[in-house]
Amino acid sequence: MLEKNIAALINDQVNKEFYSAYLYLDFANYYAEEGLDGFAHWYEIQAKEEQDHALKMRKYLQDNGYRVIFEAIAKPDKVFKNHLDPLENGLEHERYVTSLISNIYHVAFEAKDFKTMQFLDWFVKEQVEEEKNADDLVKRMKLFGSDSRGLYMLDQELKGRVYTAPASEED
Ligand code: MG
Repeated sequence: MLEKNIAALINDQVNKEFYSAYLYLDFANYYAEEGLDGFAHWYEIQAKEEQDHALKMRKYLQDNGYRVIFEAIAKPDKVFKNHLDPLENGLEHERYVTSLISNIYHVAFEAKDFKTMQFLDWFVKEQVEEEKNADDLVKRMKLFGSDSRGLYMLDQELKGRVYTAPASEED
């Protein structure tokens, strides 16, 4: 069995991962409205990945005899000033998520809950990737986004992102 406080933190994170999906779909709404379908597509896939994160945690809780509780998902309420704005918000959000995962890891470590630490290792690695992707988007938008041809090329490139369903729970 999981310790109650650790299970509660993971349950809370399930909700936050669903919020991330909601947030990124909101970014996709903005870009679709702006005619940047590649950016919209990129964030639609990002949203699917966030949902996968939530489901991975949900399964871990269930596998450990914990009943998962879904909370209301907050409304994404950002108003974007320009095309760079969501990207910078995304980077900031991923840094926040990293801090949340680190906190759960810390609590698991203190409790000598090696099982949960091992489970969270996947997310620790994933956050490195998430922050890098978000940072790359910001950098590339700053480099190329102010020129309409550059923005077009970047948008075309982002259309190529392919969703990969997560492999079995063993990895
Ligand atoms: Mg996530």
